[in-house]
Amino acid sequence: MNNSESLEELKKKAAADDSLPLKKGATNLVFGVGNPNAEIIFIGEGPGYWEDIKGEPFVGNAGALLNQLLSLIKVERRDVYITNVVMYRPPNNRDPEPAEIKAFEPYLNKMIEIINPKIIVTLGRFSMAKFLPNVFVSGVHGQPQELDWEGKSITVIPMYHPAAGLRSLEIKEKLKIDFQKIPEILKGIKLRKDVRINKEADQKKLF
Ligand code: URA
Repeated sequence: MNNSESLEELKKKAAADDSLPLKKGATNLVFGVGNPNAEIIFIGEGPGYWEDIKGEPFVGNAGALLNQLLSLIKVERRDVYITNVVMYRPPNNRDPEPAEIKAFEPYLNKMIEIINPKIIVTLGRFSMAKFLPNVFVSGVHGQPQELDWEGKSITVIPMYHPAAGLRSLEIKEKLKIDFQKIPEILKGIKLRKDVRINKEADQKKLF
């Protein structure tokens, strides 16, 4: 099965899972969208009004800013993968509760495992807390963090949520600065991998 098929199967499983919280009040499951082989996954908080109607993450005002930030670094929305920590809309756009985030976690983890990205960009505090508990977005935004994620090393870049950038020009500027770091960080990760592969090849030649 390729990544696209695996994600489709996972989405069907999530849609049929009646144990998931928030399902009753929602119109659509908002699973994830984008390239199943993406190098970068963006993880937000949860669907809002438009996401719930359309069944796609980040298609409202915060999504419009996310699209602008992506175009700033010449990345197409379809090149990356975009999802949320909860996949049904919380009523009145309230914050997702810890038990709700936990209930969706197996789906989010499986999604990350299937896509196997080089970078995870967390948008806002809820997705950041999944990887980096006990820190504040204001203290670490834009700083790549190397983590061991289920036995694999992964780079997480915490960022402000685009909705915060809509409320504050200062945060919007910080988001722009942080997004502009992504291409360099990705290049660095790929270079390091090349160096590792070459080192391994050299070692094989020696023996
Ligand atoms: N905010 C989010 O965190 N996710 C969306 O999909 C839309 C708005």
